[in-house]
Amino acid sequence: MAAAPALKHWRTTLERVEKFVSPLYFTDCNLRGRCGPWSPAAGRPQPLFGASCPVAVLSSFLTPERLPYQEAVQRDFRPAQVGDSFGPTWWTCWFRVELTIPEAWVGQEVHLCWESDGEGLVWRDGEPVQGLTKEGEKTSYVLTDRLGERDPRSLTLYVEVACNGLLGAGKGSMIAAPDPEKMFQLSRAELAVFHRDVHMLLVDLELLLGIAKGLGKDNQRSFQALYTANQMVNVCDPAQPETFPVAQALASRFFGQHGGESQHTIHATGHCHIDTAWLWPFKETVRKCARSWVTALQLMERNPEFIFACSQAQQLEWVKSRYPGLYSRIQEFACRGQFVPVGGTWVEMDGNLPSGEAMVRQFLQGQNFFLQEFGKMCSEFWLPDTFGYSAQLPQIMHGCGIRRFLTQKLSWNLVNSFPHHTFFWEGLDGSRVLVHFPPGDSYGMQGSVEEVLKTVANNRDKGRANHSAFLFGFGDGGGGPTQTMLDRLKRLSNTDGLPRVQLSSPRQLFSALESDSEQLCTWVGELFLELHNGTYTTHAQIKKGNRECERILHDVELLSSLALARSAQFLYPAAQLQHLWRLLLLNQFHDVVTGSCIQMVAEEAMCHYEASLSSDIRSHGNTLLSAAAAALCAGEPGPEGLLIVNTLPWKRIEVMALPKPGGAHSLALVTVPSMGYAPVPPPTSLQPLLPQQPVFVVQETDGSVTLDNGIIRVKLDPTGRLTSLVLVASGREAIAEGAVGNQFVLFDDVPLYWDAWDVMDYHLETRKPVLGQAGTLAVGTEGGLRGSAWFLLQISPNSRLSQEVVLDVGCPYVRFHTEVHWHEAHKFLKVEFPARVRSSQATYEIQFGHLQRPTHYNTSWDWARFEVWAHRWMDLSEHGFGLALLNDCKYGASVRGSILSLSLLRAPKAPDATADTGRHEFTYALMPHKGSFQDAGVIQAAYSLNFPLLALPAPSPAPATSWSAFSVSSPAVVLETVKQAESSPQRRSLVLRLYEAHGSHVDCWLHLSLPVQEAILCDLLERPDPAGHLTLRDNRLKLTFSPFQVLSLLLVLQPPPH
Ligand SMILES: [Zn+2]
Repeated sequence: MAAAPALKHWRTTLERVEKFVSPLYFTDCNLRGRCGPWSPAAGRPQPLFGASCPVAVLSSFLTPERLPYQEAVQRDFRPAQVGDSFGPTWWTCWFRVELTIPEAWVGQEVHLCWESDGEGLVWRDGEPVQGLTKEGEKTSYVLTDRLGERDPRSLTLYVEVACNGLLGAGKGSMIAAPDPEKMFQLSRAELAVFHRDVHMLLVDLELLLGIAKGLGKDNQRSFQALYTANQMVNVCDPAQPETFPVAQALASRFFGQHGGESQHTIHATGHCHIDTAWLWPFKETVRKCARSWVTALQLMERNPEFIFACSQAQQLEWVKSRYPGLYSRIQEFACRGQFVPVGGTWVEMDGNLPSGEAMVRQFLQGQNFFLQEFGKMCSEFWLPDTFGYSAQLPQIMHGCGIRRFLTQKLSWNLVNSFPHHTFFWEGLDGSRVLVHFPPGDSYGMQGSVEEVLKTVANNRDKGRANHSAFLFGFGDGGGGPTQTMLDRLKRLSNTDGLPRVQLSSPRQLFSALESDSEQLCTWVGELFLELHNGTYTTHAQIKKGNRECERILHDVELLSSLALARSAQFLYPAAQLQHLWRLLLLNQFHDVVTGSCIQMVAEEAMCHYEASLSSDIRSHGNTLLSAAAAALCAGEPGPEGLLIVNTLPWKRIEVMALPKPGGAHSLALVTVPSMGYAPVPPPTSLQPLLPQQPVFVVQETDGSVTLDNGIIRVKLDPTGRLTSLVLVASGREAIAEGAVGNQFVLFDDVPLYWDAWDVMDYHLETRKPVLGQAGTLAVGTEGGLRGSAWFLLQISPNSRLSQEVVLDVGCPYVRFHTEVHWHEAHKFLKVEFPARVRSSQATYEIQFGHLQRPTHYNTSWDWARFEVWAHRWMDLSEHGFGLALLNDCKYGASVRGSILSLSLLRAPKAPDATADTGRHEFTYALMPHKGSFQDAGVIQAAYSLNFPLLALPAPSPAPATSWSAFSVSSPAVVLETVKQAESSPQRRSLVLRLYEAHGSHVDCWLHLSLPVQEAILCDLLERPDPAGHLTLRDNRLKLTFSPFQVLSLLLVLQPPPH
């Protein structure tokens, strides 16, 4: 029996228990060192393991390919041994492990202990069974829980080891570019008897230590935990397993003392954040999914109460095609409610940069996949790790059947701590969703007492929300939960002094939060992340590819829809479009479109946009465009084999370059109706009999150039800077007095750590204007339909820029076509326009709308937004006048005071040392306007800049007359998307998506010239609204919008003409 109680010293008691479980100290006699013989392979006694023996035969082969199992096992395996090196980075080493379990181990739990660098996957009987990674604390595979007398004791396993770590293969630091020479080593491969009783005691003692430390000396329960642990040490003799149950009973008594009714409840959900590509290529992610998920399934088998949340349809689709056996087991566990698909999106996309339509498609592709594969859609949007959240997300979630949202990244805010963990989020249109941030500020918990206590203490909504999420499992590079994490959490299920811990699903968590939500606060507008603001600019080519491919898919869908409606023979390319959309959505993953990936991923992403193969979005999309155009005008008589197409929902009169035989181009002023086409204008109208004033171009003797089209007058100084921009009718000057616009500026751009991600506030203090050489400005196009001037600018000894400043007849904005040869390190290039406008707010376009952000730094919340994101335009307006800055592929921006600034190029070196090095082409445009930007047509101008008129080859003859499919009576309403419905019996239904873009309540008419027999309102997933039948009269529909509302319509087409 233990000695009589004595007065105990807190620290010595605590450290005594710590030493009893230490892996470093006193392992000759403590519980952690409890073991059989010394392991020569590991060079130390093996914690938790008793008797061990080597595997019978070990052989291996190396390959640079990621082979399927069936192919790999056919290869020529050579003898291998523990200590062997293999590699280099991104290769794969397959090991064949032939083993025989000693007969003497009957009745024992036997593991294959495997320690190697890299990420391993165990295959047994042709199926993956478990992942093995040191970093993910998975270094043993349970061969048997209890070896039976008649169990087979010999078997052959394969271990597929990928030559990369959980977080890639960064040279020297995690986010450094991968080390291509890195070698990997096998340091342990043996069979051993596992002492589960020791393991459970260690779990208990560590939890008790955690409680003692976490609750601290002011807390009585802390002492109870400490004294329980101390007493366990007293009664437990590591060399005598028969003493363990007594110690275990002491722990059970402590953990069985329950808390009160008001206890906070923690919903512990297993999770494994797998970045779809980041510090490793897409192809490795496929294997990461298999390794991580098969491990999770194995834990589900052993722990029927274990629930695992898994997001990203794309990853499931990969596993479905690459690991069908594993996938069918995933579906089984999904039926049991243990494997829980969440999120509803194709990938966990970036929350800022994708267009509104692309965000809708994330859900459309995702939810349809989840419905088809798992029988139901997701009810929670899941985006733990992204770099900000658009104010339109609540409305998009609503339209996709989702009212709940889980994320945690806002805990990374550098300046302001977000005031809530559980709250209602109200979007731009007023849609509300319930949002929860796990208060432990992590999606990769380990199940420690410290984390559990942090979850309670850190909760910013104490008294309002009594439930919290607790996502446990190694993440980012995969890995997922371990049995030890589960052992900890199960032990903490209901213990006085701690929150209740329940293994739970996101659905259970949100249901609990919803049922008690009256006290929750509401946050209105965007959730801006005060960090990673460089991701709006990094990897400009990816951003450009994204914007351009969003346009191509828009145009293909519109033209294919029109062709479907007008031609009985036309087959809508639904499967091809789904494939191309999925490629685009894949690239919108939160480490790809953001530019925070390694070079290998950036190159793959660029191939998805344009690979000079027919499978990429650009070339495949262009083929589909031509096919649709051909079908659209087949049978109509006309003069030339060319069709001018306007894919925007308003009439456009623009100058365009028409291809001439021999590859040349000629300029023409064309008029094309809304979402329709026009024939090529006859050559006579190319003569300067213009309805508007032609463009005048004048170069002064000092070298400056003036461009004037009667709407705006642009004056450039001899170095290409903008000295004046006047609205001709009013004589109003848009450039600030004494200032110049189109001023390029360079900043030093050295963040604290996250190179590709972060631009810090202090970069603003290093501003250096790039000054050009007088005399470099020259007239380009001499006027008439178009006038232009161009110049060269040496940015630095290594980088240069050339720009053509272009003004067209009738055009309300001046364009700046820019080419940059960029070879910099840690520099940031922007262009500035000081405006003769004073306003405390600037307006920025976002998905399906716009929002205001301050132009001053009054509060910490204001100055933390020194670099923000926008889509196609930003505007600074005072009453009656404003200046808008448009762009065709940029996202980073800011307005400070009256200076509009567009972020052009960065030069980070990690994780991709080559990021942004090379040639870039982009266009921005400046549009001074009177009145509001809404009334002045800034939104339409930005669309026009991004959706040029198309000159498509038509089978001769092309139509002789113009034709418009759709038009909208109000300029406030944008008809954004026209596509075939995802599912309709005859596939003869279209979906139209419109949104209110001005921020106003508006009624409007939608005019149709397609043979429509029925029109029904539907949601973003194209599910008809039972009360949404619309009356079609005189080929028009009346629609009513509230500010920034997105509406979708299903149009059932009449049967095709025969
Ligand atoms: Zn991530």
